[in-house]
Amino acid sequence: MNTLLNSAQQAQVDQFRSFARQHLTSVSEKLVSREACLKEFLQKLGQQGYLGLHVAKEYGGSGGTLLDVVLLVEALAEMEPGLGLTIGNHVAVIETIQKFGTEQQKSKYLPLLARGEQFATLAFSEESAGTDFQAVQATVRGASDLTLTASKRWVVTGDFAGLFLVLAKSEENKLVMVLVDRAADGAAFELLKDHKLMGLSSAYVNDVEFTDLPVNATNKIVGDGAEVALFAMDVAKVVLASAAIGLIDGAKGQAVGHAREREQFGTTIGQFQGVQWKLADLECDRVGARLLVQRAAWSLHGEPGLFRQYASMCKFFAARAARLHSGEALQIMGAAGLEANSLTARFYNDAKMMEVAEGTSEFQKMLLVKELNI
Ligand SMILES: Cc1cc2nc3c(=O)[nH]c(=O)nc-3n(C[C@H](O)[C@H](O)[C@H](O)COP(=O)(O)OP(=O)(O)OC[C@H]3O[C@@H](n4cnc5c(N)ncnc54)[C@H](O)[C@@H]3O)c2cc1C
Repeated sequence: MNTLLNSAQQAQVDQFRSFARQHLTSVSEKLVSREACLKEFLQKLGQQGYLGLHVAKEYGGSGGTLLDVVLLVEALAEMEPGLGLTIGNHVAVIETIQKFGTEQQKSKYLPLLARGEQFATLAFSEESAGTDFQAVQATVRGASDLTLTASKRWVVTGDFAGLFLVLAKSEENKLVMVLVDRAADGAAFELLKDHKLMGLSSAYVNDVEFTDLPVNATNKIVGDGAEVALFAMDVAKVVLASAAIGLIDGAKGQAVGHAREREQFGTTIGQFQGVQWKLADLECDRVGARLLVQRAAWSLHGEPGLFRQYASMCKFFAARAARLHSGEALQIMGAAGLEANSLTARFYNDAKMMEVAEGTSEFQKMLLVKELNI
């Protein structure tokens, strides 16, 4: 039973699961090996209306909330957790435009993003600016005509995103955020690196260089750059946390199936208390993490003053639980789980990366402690 969801939302979860079964089962492994095209899959989500779940109706969305998004991502991540990273960045840019964007930015970009005709991503990190994102060296010069120079690292979907939310410093050395529109400014882009990472491999992670890129002044985000950046990260991390829950669910399915079938010492291994307790721990953390994630998603509008606190808590808690329980699921599988491309091994690698992507676990604790005002 889920104490937060009403019957309409529960029906929506069933729809998301059925979509995942129908459209993701056959391609999830291919998305990871890149034999299937991620962009095409995302376009399918867009056509289905799933990238506009939380976009206001007047801008072509369904008028829902971040809670709808986390329900979707949990269902998809049970098969492919890396989608949580890609969708998280897209959703974070949408929410940033909804909260801080001008009317012009909203009407230009939200309909495209909601339909999946354009994909959005976050470009904050640099060689010497990771957790310390305020150390960015990217610059935005000018007042009416802006010029951006930036060397960005670890940009999800850097190779095909159409809209980049870029963190830079102004001439006054203040943090600012600009929207870089690839269709308008594509000529000055350089894709430096396509990272080959240990997990979350369906997400494409690139380094991107913008050199003396002209950016329309209307694409500047109004407001304090640091606050906008933190908000965008808060949204992205809630979505990634929901992928962590899907991952735990997927790992549970694998481990329970194996525990029911594998026989040792004359009985199935699921009859051993040592195995049962691993699964009991998993289930407690899975349900606990899900409640935290849903609470965080709800608080974006329902309790905005606590959004950062819940976002940090849920990301930290869910990523740690995913790492712990994907490891225990592997333990239950024994050697059968250790084949390099087995789903259980993939979940284990994906889970570790969730403790770093969208802000490390230590960063979440730093934010949490700040909110606690000790
Ligand atoms: C798969 C993936 C996708 C990503 N996607 C994007 C993206 O789309 N856009 C983007 O801009 N960035 C992206 N990133 C970058 C990500 O945001 C950074 O990796 C993250 O913020 C950490 O920065 P770092 O890796 O430089 O680690 P560092 O900041 O160098 O940290 C190294 C270690 O030191 C710890 N540490 C640092 N400072 C402190 C402190 N004050 N107290 C205690 N411990 C501390 C960290 O927690 C970590 O354990 C992505 C990263 C990954 C792995």
